Amino acid sequence: MRNILSARVRNKHILFRADYNVPIKNGTVTNDKRIRATIPTLKKLLARGATLVIASHLGRPEGKKRAEFSLAPVARRLEKLLGKKVEFLPDCTGSAIERAVATSKNRIILLENLRFHPEEEHNDAHFAKQLARLANIYCNDAFGVSHRAHASVHAITRHLPSFAGPLLLNEITMLSALKKPKRPFIAVLGGAKVSDKIQLIEQLSKKADAVLIGGAMMFTFLAAAGNETGTSKTEKDYVPLARKLLRTKKIIIPPDVVLDNKKTVSVHALPKNRAGLDIGPETRELYSAIIARAKTVFWNGPLGLFEKKPFDAGTLAIARAIAHGKKVSIIGGGDSVAAIEKLGLAKKFTHLSTGGGAALEFIEGKTLPGIAALHKNKPKRADKRA
Ligand code: ADP
Ligand code: MG
Repeated sequence: MRNILSARVRNKHILFRADYNVPIKNGTVTNDKRIRATIPTLKKLLARGATLVIASHLGRPEGKKRAEFSLAPVARRLEKLLGKKVEFLPDCTGSAIERAVATSKNRIILLENLRFHPEEEHNDAHFAKQLARLANIYCNDAFGVSHRAHASVHAITRHLPSFAGPLLLNEITMLSALKKPKRPFIAVLGGAKVSDKIQLIEQLSKKADAVLIGGAMMFTFLAAAGNETGTSKTEKDYVPLARKLLRTKKIIIPPDVVLDNKKTVSVHALPKNRAGLDIGPETRELYSAIIARAKTVFWNGPLGLFEKKPFDAGTLAIARAIAHGKKVSIIGGGDSVAAIEKLGLAKKFTHLSTGGGAALEFIEGKTLPGIAALHKNKPKRADKRA
């Protein structure tokens, strides 16, 4: 992949695909982390004489122009963070937009939400061609959407010389550390559902030395091990698969849990009318001891219902154990990263991945269409994915 920061960009228009899919409330950006992350790159490219035509999606407007998904609030925040005028255009394709981009006196332009057009998610060739008319070169710095074959990350690369942005390259470098990890390599998996993460669990049970299970998904495993799980979130359909995974001997399940009435019980004594909402203190200790010996840790998924006290105790204890000492620690997943930020521990880890689904697919070993498309000697017909 070619890095945009090594490209000749003077007097060029760069179609810069960013991930500005940020939370917005009453027309104001409530978390601008993703916008801030792009600022150093945008400044460098401007200093080198490029004009930036920035494109992004926001939310799921489902192919229709819907005001609540407008990127206008992002343009205002970007302007503040850059300290420079950002011209916001009300659409991303069409002759009026082409004219506006070509004649603009501004060197930073933000296009309206790509997903106002259904063609974006359909990876439509004509739509990609129209986008390509706005620039001379293309840069993908949106790792979080690179697992999708969408027009602005995939089809577009057939129409413009294509480069990778520094955020995307950094994600790949960091996540690649898990391909040949220093051992012991421990995976910690929690979060909502086994069904969301089957492939991740299977892959990690092959690669890691141990997989520590927590979160709501632990109950499917506890059921597979023959325990009563009461009213805890248990996915009955996945019990056989969990049983199969337990036979690998890599999977470690909690000895105790904290119930919805805040009492701790052994997993062999979970009452029928109660739900487990966190790992218990014995589990925290056991997991922390295993993590203490690790050289590499990958963590996805909160260990309990961390949004609600005191059910954040398990997540907090494990976060601290991972943050402690010298090890490569990589965290993936939207809620996992949010949990760590809420706990104020973000700086303690080697890498917090911004691309939830994309990071998980990368670790599962899948080819991400947006990344494959950036490789110089890519095959003419990129592989179609479901
Ligand atoms: P990520 O976004 O990091 O991949 P998930 O979306 O899989 O994580 O799961 C996060 C959600 O799982 C959180 O909202 C958390 O409250 C919930 N959760 C974790 N453990 C439990 C539990 N024991 N019972 C109910 N919900 C849980
Ligand atoms: Mg989530």
